Amino acid sequence: MNDKMTKPVRKQIYLAAFRKWGFEAQHRQLMEECAELIQATNKYLNLPTEETVASFVEELADVEIMIEQIKLQTDYLLLEDRVEKQKESALLSLKTRVMKDKEGSE
Ligand SMILES: [Mg+2]
Repeated sequence: MNDKMTKPVRKQIYLAAFRKWGFEAQHRQLMEECAELIQATNKYLNLPTEETVASFVEELADVEIMIEQIKLQTDYLLLEDRVEKQKESALLSLKTRVMKDKEGSE
């Protein structure tokens, strides 16, 4: 049996989670997962072991899940589109900085 979660299956799970726990609880869960990711990143950088890498990976996944969930649930704010536009803008800025640093080092 293939256990891979397709996008429609994920969407169903995200919507069910929002129905079960509600808007505020899911936003608080996002904050909690971000805090856990901060801690896991720090531990992994301080001491890279199988265990700290596994925790880092787990928390990255948790944060991504919460972000996907929030973006889906708050459709009325057009978060998905707005985040994509913001990413484009941030990436252009990053590209400029990266290229500038590259020119500076040559
Ligand atoms: Mg977590």
